[in-house]
Amino acid sequence: MPGPLPGAPAVPDFAAELNDEQLAAVQTHARHALVIAGAGSGKTRTLTYRVAWLLSQGVPGWRVLLLTFTNKAAREMLERVGSLIGPESGSIWGGTFHSIANRILRRHAEMLGYRQGFTILDSDDQRALMRRLVKLHAGKQSKANPFPKPEVLLSLLSLAVNTGRTWEETLAADYPQLCKHEETIGQIYADYARRKVETNAMDFDDLLVNMVRLLSEHEEVRLHLQERFLHVLVDEYQDTNVLQERMISLLCGGSRTHLMVVGDDAQSIYSWRGARVDHIFDFSRRYPDAEVFKIETNYRSVPAILEISNAAIAQNERQFLKVLRPVRAANKWMPAVVPAPDNRTEAQFVARRIDELMGQGIPGKDIAVLYRAHFHSLDVQMELTRCHIPFRITSGLRFFEQAHVKDVVAYLRLLSNPRDEMAFRRIAATFPRVGEVSAGKMWQGWLAACEARLQSAPEVPLRGYEELMRGVSVPALARPNWQSFLATMEALRPEEGVELTPAEMVRLVQKELDAWFRSAYDNYDERWEDIEQLSRTLADMPSLEDFLSQVALLSEADREVEPDDDCVTLSTIHQAKGLEWKVVFVIFLGEGMFPHYRVINAGDARELEEETRLFYVAVTRAQDQLYLTYPRYNGHSYDSMYCPPSRFLTSLPQGLFEVWSE
Ligand code: ATP
Ligand code: MG
Repeated sequence: MPGPLPGAPAVPDFAAELNDEQLAAVQTHARHALVIAGAGSGKTRTLTYRVAWLLSQGVPGWRVLLLTFTNKAAREMLERVGSLIGPESGSIWGGTFHSIANRILRRHAEMLGYRQGFTILDSDDQRALMRRLVKLHAGKQSKANPFPKPEVLLSLLSLAVNTGRTWEETLAADYPQLCKHEETIGQIYADYARRKVETNAMDFDDLLVNMVRLLSEHEEVRLHLQERFLHVLVDEYQDTNVLQERMISLLCGGSRTHLMVVGDDAQSIYSWRGARVDHIFDFSRRYPDAEVFKIETNYRSVPAILEISNAAIAQNERQFLKVLRPVRAANKWMPAVVPAPDNRTEAQFVARRIDELMGQGIPGKDIAVLYRAHFHSLDVQMELTRCHIPFRITSGLRFFEQAHVKDVVAYLRLLSNPRDEMAFRRIAATFPRVGEVSAGKMWQGWLAACEARLQSAPEVPLRGYEELMRGVSVPALARPNWQSFLATMEALRPEEGVELTPAEMVRLVQKELDAWFRSAYDNYDERWEDIEQLSRTLADMPSLEDFLSQVALLSEADREVEPDDDCVTLSTIHQAKGLEWKVVFVIFLGEGMFPHYRVINAGDARELEEETRLFYVAVTRAQDQLYLTYPRYNGHSYDSMYCPPSRFLTSLPQGLFEVWSE
């Protein structure tokens, strides 16, 4: 067995840092292994140590693939592996299914009919494209028979893709009220697919779809990857959908690859997006040689919080029964249930209590406020701001979703992929007197010129825009902007073979867009600062393509913010999966808010069970202190609604919590 490299940390003492159940999983030789265990039992830790173990056994980092629920989770796990075992961890591929798919497709997308440098459409781009198609195909709508909104068409399509059904099946099963529009919807979807290919773009779902296509249709790529990855490891396996599962089985389909998945059926909370908890239940059937590991010790929470967690999930019938023993000793805090007269006083309680806790020396980073829906956080946001308590919010509008940031990014996208219609239209919309129609004409002119030039020399990036675009018809009033736009595009690639860094590019575009920012948006100064920050952040980004992939992946998949020690975290429960804090507040625990009234009214037991699992995920994030709060009235003054406590609270056995007054 090769020893550690000179200067690398000594091999960790696996037996001392893991319990017997975890150690057995970490050191297994089984080709297929499932670790199934409750929250806080060290599943993620087991996976992390497993990677370190493999490296310590001489498996090269580049032969390991780690699939996680957020890119941040992968980064943290690999940092930990690095600290355990040394720099070999740097060559491991780790990230979300989408980001790994993107990484592989960047090399092979041409085999699927795409061209180099494909663009990833984010939700805004998708909506814009869909809006245009709805207008085109269903322009004349009667009030009595309105056509579904672009957002609805996109959700339907995404649900179909992620559940592995056709859109027609999904329409009939989940959107029966829209069946009367089936024909037009079909035309729109066909056009949507065509436009994406024409503009050399993939939407988020396409990353998975195309990855699966690539692996199933191109044996040489599949064999190459099966040969490369000796070990595939998956965290949060309970929330994989059919495409992700297919991607895993194709990658592991050879005779050598080892697969280890870890998960907890009680934490499956993404069925509304196509996740299938059955994957975990069926694992042993699919892989009859699978070894199954169970961990029955909880390291995260004090016993009182663990009792609440167990009681919360006991309400569900469909589950693998797991008994968790607490390792930690009790502390002086009983979990608290806190009724407040209304949502404002609820928020005031949360802010005041956080202030006290921080006064006692608990840093903000150890405190989280969790909620079912993003808008539940509004009062808490305002109250924390009023009390000067810093917070970061992982559920709201994110940096790259902001209009002015997208304007800047559009230039870079167009530079990298001249066929990117979305980016072109976004830029054209900043010119005076350019509406949909003239933007469309300009686009046709631009595209024709680019295509002609790219066909004659496909490998050479575009330059000489002024000359190239001579024939494009542009409204007179927009001419000066058009000229200046072409000059900026030229400046972004100043000479053959010279590449500016992404940070330098951003500065150039910032200058170009300055007048637009002043005229189009309020709070110019803050927006300017955002762009400044963007170019600072990009300082060490090597290439434009890296940057654009990251933007698209960041703004879509996970809402990841860099840690700041003093900041309290505000997060939806969905975004809090896998994480832990010393102190957790779960707010808006009123019947109708959580569980949501739509689920209550629908009376679907399965949906209600998913709400219960969501509550379970929320309470199991807490290590030391747990506060469960709800407003008796929601809304301000005359527009308020009486709200009884959530059934999740009323069904908790007495004696497991204390009732506090706010
Ligand atoms: P979740 O289901 O929420 O994702 P998990 O099962 O992945 O939880 P981890 O996050 O890996 O659990 O572990 C929970 C906490 O317990 C972490 O702080 C981890 O470091 C700690 N822990 C786990 N196992 C051990 C151990 N053997 N010794 C000490 N601490 C441990
Ligand atoms: Mg975990």
